[in-house]
Amino acid sequence: MPAASLEQLASLCKRRGFIYPSSDIYGGLQGVFDYGPLGVELKNNIINSWWRANVYARDDMEGLDASILMNKLVWKYSGHEETFNDPLVDCRACKGRWRADHIKGKCPSCGSSDLTEPRPFNMMFKTAVGPVADSDSFAYLRPETAQGIFANFGNVLATTSRKLPFGIAQVGKAFRNEINPRNFLFRVREFEQMEIEFFVMPGSEEEWHDRWLEDRLSWWESIGVPRHQIQIYDVPKGDLAHYSKRTYDLMYNYPSLGYEEIEGIASRSDYDLGSHSRDQENLGLSANVSTNRDSVAKLTYYDQANNRHVVPFVIEPSAGVGRCFLAVLSEAYDEQLVKEPAADKVETVRTALDAFVKSVSRSEKLSGEQRDAIVAQAEHVSADLANRLPQVEQLLGMPGADGIEVGKKLRGVAQPVVDEFYRTVLHLKPHLAPNKVAVFPLKRNHEGLVGLAKGIRSNLQLEANMRTVYDDTGAIGKLYRRQDEIGTPFCVTVDFQSLEDGSVTVRDRDSMQQERVLASELEQYVREKSR
Ligand code: ATP
Repeated sequence: MPAASLEQLASLCKRRGFIYPSSDIYGGLQGVFDYGPLGVELKNNIINSWWRANVYARDDMEGLDASILMNKLVWKYSGHEETFNDPLVDCRACKGRWRADHIKGKCPSCGSSDLTEPRPFNMMFKTAVGPVADSDSFAYLRPETAQGIFANFGNVLATTSRKLPFGIAQVGKAFRNEINPRNFLFRVREFEQMEIEFFVMPGSEEEWHDRWLEDRLSWWESIGVPRHQIQIYDVPKGDLAHYSKRTYDLMYNYPSLGYEEIEGIASRSDYDLGSHSRDQENLGLSANVSTNRDSVAKLTYYDQANNRHVVPFVIEPSAGVGRCFLAVLSEAYDEQLVKEPAADKVETVRTALDAFVKSVSRSEKLSGEQRDAIVAQAEHVSADLANRLPQVEQLLGMPGADGIEVGKKLRGVAQPVVDEFYRTVLHLKPHLAPNKVAVFPLKRNHEGLVGLAKGIRSNLQLEANMRTVYDDTGAIGKLYRRQDEIGTPFCVTVDFQSLEDGSVTVRDRDSMQQERVLASELEQYVREKSR
């Protein structure tokens, strides 16, 4: 069951250390986030899975890691200086600034329709390069990784023995001064992209475009984002970017947002290599490019069979790591009733919830909007309280709710019931899970049990290269829940029998079934079960 809302995911991410607001101690910075201890593991696993599928599992790809700062001429000839704009409007009433195509003619902040005409706002960040600050000494932070690949096309061709078709893959940071960053990781100002530029013979681009569409959908499926959750949007001709012949946008069904772009797969013709080449008039370009008198290179490919130089066409699958991270979490998210809670316990929570709603309705600290939102959510939870008890925590995390004193009482009553009867579980694919295994000793002050558990941990982590954690800070049931919530596929408990026969209990995250396995065979067991 995918997550019900972005708030549900944001709350988990914050609670368990997947994502923090950047510069939290100074009030944050809008549209910028940090990946915490679990977030960095999940993010790296996503990137590694992408690299494996697109570089190692194919024999027509090379990798690259180009710099973030580049000569500003790159951005002149790529077309970004002129066209990488979003339409900006000002609200004359409250001075808010908005992206015109995201607001339907009304200021989202104050509701006024008194808006300025949209004007282009360039999204590239500028920075000074070197100690002399004159009008010429600036550079841009790259708004996409793609141009680093185009600028290196000739280098890669000259230093490998590649023949067309072949591609170059890259993962790296990109920066966009979004007018209104929002929706958690979905629209931010600093993010990572996973991009491929795949170079093909002119004339074969349609076939390769469709092949890439299929390949990319298979990859999404392999990381737990199924096809039925993705719509393919064939971008209408009039809406295509200046470089594009045709683009498929993959639209994922995000919680709270509905279908929004997770990846773009563009057929870019010979626009990019042509734009960055000199002597364009002799290249027989199909794309309409600006004259380039600055480049020292011709970004062409020698077609031996026909004894001619051609400018390859390009297919570009481009996905954002953060949007992928959200989709993976959303698909994996589940709240399960483990056993039916006793009726009197549910009623105790209901009484506390009613008192909370009363207090919210009377509170003068809340805006009308906040009050309505909290009450609506509380009514939703109350309507099926036995099944929605875990949502009390999100209710208490809503804007303004933390100022309601009786909220503390509600949390105090609800939390133990949730801990006893429910679990939040991330059904992450094992290769993406931040921790593969968690190891617990049955007793934390027993030297033999602790020694064996720690030995298993370091063996799996260092010898078998599986991220493994040791925990002895609670009862086993509680430790299981803690690992379920962060998607750890296997929990290993070391008990007294382990000291006698070398076997341990392995508990499976999804089925919650337990099996006895020899500690010496754990690595193999986990590998087989993770396939
Ligand atoms: P949008 O229309 O949503 O602004 P875009 O069409 O400008 O996106 P592309 O330029 O095609 O996006 O970038 C490729 C991918 O990079 C997107 O599919 C998305 O996954 C990611 N991406 C782009 N902008 C952002 C952003 N501001 N925050 C997070 N990810 C982004």
